[in-house]
Amino acid sequence: MSLYSAHFLRNIKQNLCVDDRDPPDIQFNHQGYLTLSSQANAHILEQNYKLQTELGAKVELMSSMRLKERFPWLNTDEVEVGTYGLENEGWFDPYLLTRSFKQKAESLGAQYCLGEVVGFECSKLDKQLSVPEFYVGQGKRIKAVKVRMPNSPEVIDVQCAFAVVCAGSWSGEVTTTLGIGQGTAEELMDVPLPVEPRKRYVYVAHCPDGPGLDCPMIVNVDGVYTRREGLGGNYLMGSCPPEEAEPDCENLNVDYDFFEEKVWPSMANRVPAFENLKLKSAWAGFYDYNTIDQNAIIGTHPAFPNLLLATGFSGHGIQQSPAVGQAISDLIFEGKFVEIDLNRMGFERFLNKQHVRESNIY
Ligand SMILES: Cc1cc2nc3c(=O)[nH]c(=O)nc-3n(C[C@H](O)[C@H](O)[C@H](O)COP(=O)(O)OP(=O)(O)OC[C@H]3O[C@@H](n4cnc5c(N)ncnc54)[C@H](O)[C@@H]3O)c2cc1C
Repeated sequence: MSLYSAHFLRNIKQNLCVDDRDPPDIQFNHQGYLTLSSQANAHILEQNYKLQTELGAKVELMSSMRLKERFPWLNTDEVEVGTYGLENEGWFDPYLLTRSFKQKAESLGAQYCLGEVVGFECSKLDKQLSVPEFYVGQGKRIKAVKVRMPNSPEVIDVQCAFAVVCAGSWSGEVTTTLGIGQGTAEELMDVPLPVEPRKRYVYVAHCPDGPGLDCPMIVNVDGVYTRREGLGGNYLMGSCPPEEAEPDCENLNVDYDFFEEKVWPSMANRVPAFENLKLKSAWAGFYDYNTIDQNAIIGTHPAFPNLLLATGFSGHGIQQSPAVGQAISDLIFEGKFVEIDLNRMGFERFLNKQHVRESNIY
């Protein structure tokens, strides 16, 4: 999915150009990800490296000595090994990407409507469907999506041939209105969609003496990460809290102690120049967290042949978005995955207990 998306983004000007407008610019900053590992976890990083390079990713496996040579400002104490992406890695402005997708879709005839999905209307499947033949199977069909419009008590039924649940962190909640997770195993309705919000903080620090243009996105041995933000000596930093200390999701307040106690000490140890940083600002957002295996859930729900799921990206949904869009489009128009085989990412894996786990994912 990442390789597909990288290729798509390399050609974004052709892919998302709209006739009379300037070509899209998502402020792509080409820079590798440097993932570090202690001796205890080195074998996992090495396995990941092997898999990634077998699949065509250009990644260098670096010893502690090589790391020091390549990044002299890095403290390599307790670092056994690191991997560094040589191609197809970097960061960009996700808002600009979303806007470019939207403009392109509108230019091709898509209509957008702002409202809150509050339920669905279903019917038994029959042969007189507006969905292609391959979707006529067992189960119920979504006839309409119930949408509450802003500033109005009115709920409108939007008739549909297909509905795609892509409500990010709230996807689990949306599917409970269909009874998913509240029925029986025979109906394939006993397993809920395991997606919920998890609060994550992003801190912006200023450090004029920090590493310069060659500073990669660094993931420290304990999962604390940093990357350069622009060219003015600013850095984004953050980390995932341990499972037992997950913050509540009632609001988007930032925990500044988490920066003082966890993020800053880790990064100042790894990059000594960061001892002198100053915290400038911070914000929080919700990860669209798949509580079972932290990977995307893509495909048809087995009990609803015209209900598609595209959710649960657990913090890596932007980089996968071009591949996800293509996969959902293939499912709707062709009834199967064509460009990329994402069968392993389907909801069925929770019914069959064939989870898709990865290591060293933050
Ligand atoms: C701090 C942070 C850092 C991240 N860093 C990265 C990163 O480095 N790389 C990366 O790839 N990803 C990253 N992500 C994850 C990425 O943002 C998500 O995976 C991605 O946005 C998911 O896209 P989505 O379209 O599925 O969901 P979203 O972007 O969450 O969009 C879902 C939309 O559905 C709407 N919605 C919800 N419920 C309803 C309803 N009932 N009716 C109508 N609309 C509804 C929401 O308002 C929202 O607009 C990060 C996330 C956070 C919070």
